[in-house]
Amino acid sequence: MVNDRLGRPLRDLRISITDRCNFRCVYCMPKEVFGRDYEFLPRSDLLSFEEITRLARAFAANGVEKIRITGGEPLVRRDVERLVDRLAAIEGLDLTLTTNGSLLAAKAGALHDAGLRRVTVSLDSLDDATFRAMNDVDFPVTRVLEGIEAAAAAGLPVKVNVVLKRGVNDDGIVELARYFRGTGHVLRFIEYMDVGHTNGWRMDDVVPAAEVVRTIGAEFPLEPVEPAYRGEVARRWRYADGAGEIGAIASVTEPFCGDCTRARLSADGKLYTCLFAVRGHDLRALVRSNATDLDLREAISAVWSRRTDRYSELRTAETVALPKVEMSYIGG
Ligand code: SAM
Repeated sequence: MVNDRLGRPLRDLRISITDRCNFRCVYCMPKEVFGRDYEFLPRSDLLSFEEITRLARAFAANGVEKIRITGGEPLVRRDVERLVDRLAAIEGLDLTLTTNGSLLAAKAGALHDAGLRRVTVSLDSLDDATFRAMNDVDFPVTRVLEGIEAAAAAGLPVKVNVVLKRGVNDDGIVELARYFRGTGHVLRFIEYMDVGHTNGWRMDDVVPAAEVVRTIGAEFPLEPVEPAYRGEVARRWRYADGAGEIGAIASVTEPFCGDCTRARLSADGKLYTCLFAVRGHDLRALVRSNATDLDLREAISAVWSRRTDRYSELRTAETVALPKVEMSYIGG
């Protein structure tokens, strides 16, 4: 186990397995930037499944208990279930994946059979026109809902993540709550963050988590639920009538850097110790040299033990303007 300079252990790892996505969500990969001419990482730059697995083992040896496969859109990477199969073989690991759901209906069974434990699906609106406008590739909401149902039918517990942007989809909060109440799928609302530098983020666009909880609570009374573990980013509430629970992730209005135990590995093998970091540490160079497993483990431990990041607690008008890497690259 390794602690950083602020006493935070390394517990979670998000692995971006591709910087590509089949959606162009306006707040994440806007078309004006990620258009036809955008140069994604060449294939040879991406970590292979073998390299990812080797690094994942080195992270696990440093105390990582939970791995989330993400991207870009992880299901656009060919044979992703083969990676799941390899990672699921690492003992004691909680393995999950975040997806936009577009390819989930086709993949859910294979992912489950390969050893995936659960899945998080991003879904920003139930209103078809709003959803199509937000993903900006005219993708219909019904196909994502089918993906969610396929995942549940395959035996994967589902969380549904909603990013709210003021004036865009915040009129659909209660409709989402009503739809997912009683299904067993946990709905979670995430505050829109100033990640990357392409989405033109403004504080006015953020819908505070407290407002979401008030809005839902006015329709369906809610009671707070105790956090399950240190570093749990979502504050949890349960419906008073027993119809399940919701989560709210107040990354902007109530930052939780003090409890952040999360590292990120980009698709080309750089280790980032904060979502808002500017620079990563090149682990791919090590993996592609003669490094031993012990060398990898020590390199990770050395980076983590120097970590002091707490961007969201220090966020000001000035930090918002700082250069940052894109979420599609670093892994959301
Ligand atoms: N493609 C997958 C998906 O859609 O879930 C995985 C990658 S995506 C970058 C992961 C999550 O980050 C999604 O739920 C997305 O809505 C969220 N996200 C992207 N940009 C964001 C931002 N600026 N603020 C908050 N969440 C954001």
